[in-house]
Amino acid sequence: MTRTTGTGPARTGPASSGPTTPRTAGSRTAGEFQRLYGAAPEGVWAAPGRVNLIGEHTDYNDGFVLPFALPQRTEVAASRRTDGILRIHSADTRSGVVTLDVSSLDPAHSPKGADGWAGYPAGVLWALLDADLPVSAGADLHIRSEVPAGAGLSSSAALEVATALALTEAAGLRLSRPEVARLARRAENAYVGVPCGVMDQTASACATDGHVLHLDTRTLAERHLPFDCAAEGLALLVIDTRVTHDLADGAYARRRASCHAAAAALGLDALRDLPPAGLEEALGRLADPEQRARVRHIVTENDRVARVAALLTAGRLRETGPLLTEGHVSLRDDYEVSCPELDLAVATATAAGAYGARMTGGGFGGSALALIDAEAEAAVARAVTEAFARSGFTSPRTLVAAPSAGAGRLA
Ligand code: ADP
Ligand code: MG
Repeated sequence: MTRTTGTGPARTGPASSGPTTPRTAGSRTAGEFQRLYGAAPEGVWAAPGRVNLIGEHTDYNDGFVLPFALPQRTEVAASRRTDGILRIHSADTRSGVVTLDVSSLDPAHSPKGADGWAGYPAGVLWALLDADLPVSAGADLHIRSEVPAGAGLSSSAALEVATALALTEAAGLRLSRPEVARLARRAENAYVGVPCGVMDQTASACATDGHVLHLDTRTLAERHLPFDCAAEGLALLVIDTRVTHDLADGAYARRRASCHAAAAALGLDALRDLPPAGLEEALGRLADPEQRARVRHIVTENDRVARVAALLTAGRLRETGPLLTEGHVSLRDDYEVSCPELDLAVATATAAGAYGARMTGGGFGGSALALIDAEAEAAVARAVTEAFARSGFTSPRTLVAAPSAGAGRLA
């Protein structure tokens, strides 16, 4: 059952408040909740979006990723209900309050159309109840986000993780952060129906301030590596190309299938088990040139993650730049998931002095990331914006992303 009422503010779309919205530590979101539902929330929880420094498309190959959390967050104000009703409102959509009957939450009938966004928080409650966790089978939720949606910065994981924390902590449960990430991912996989890997939710739930998260997606072992840009006079510039990646589902599924087929042909559990030293011999055993290119990307990408991690551990941040650019070339040429806007962002940023740059996220749009001198931020951003204008592309949005803390309670 889905009912929609028109009580919510009409806004222009997710994250219309933009990434530069000042931190309110939950008070604005709590105030909006009170006006909407007539009582103060039991609490406000927040979870960040993420950028992947390097390790792209490796997560469904049991490989390695190196994401960090953005300062931009999604806030969820929440109160439990005991009548089996879930009410959800987002300041970032045009929908009003979406009202759902918790007993009929069902992956086969998740919210569709204009209310599709409500499937993310509803899916989280479904995943928690399906795991037999003692959370209340009903809630009032109000959402407000600074994370640009659909920009490859994981606004979906931020929303899921913040909701999962809200629903569990309001019920007095203290789940481990990896467990929160696992349940949030289950909501996206099983309820929303997006076959994402484990990286996005783990970064949002588990990242720590000033660090990138080295995650082994097979064992889920975490290492938190220092990445103190400011101390080195560096900055990470995120360039949102404004190209949406909505149409990429089939391409993503084909790449996934190609990797799994190649691993099977090579007698491996996953491509993660192919070391760089064995790459040439393995490629000689694969007949299909497309499959060979896909394998080359995954194996070299896992190796780049290891090399970037070693440089960070040694405090040699600037030297990671060329590896980022190498990663972009591999994604563009071997994995074929870039697009003209991403290629232009990377080429322009590096020509304007970036130490390195790459597309980040699944590709076909979304965002690029450039490692630059902090003082060059305005110049690099301007160069990219001008290059986009010359090419007739939609003006990109840029933001500086310092590695920030993972999810937590605000109020
Ligand atoms: P990404 O995770 O890269 O931002 P996705 O397509 O995976 O892109 O997720 C974006 C979707 O998540 C939006 O289209 C919307 O359905 C939902 N979403 C994210 N943030 C919000 C928000 N603040 N309010 C409502 N829905 C949101
Ligand atoms: Mg997403």
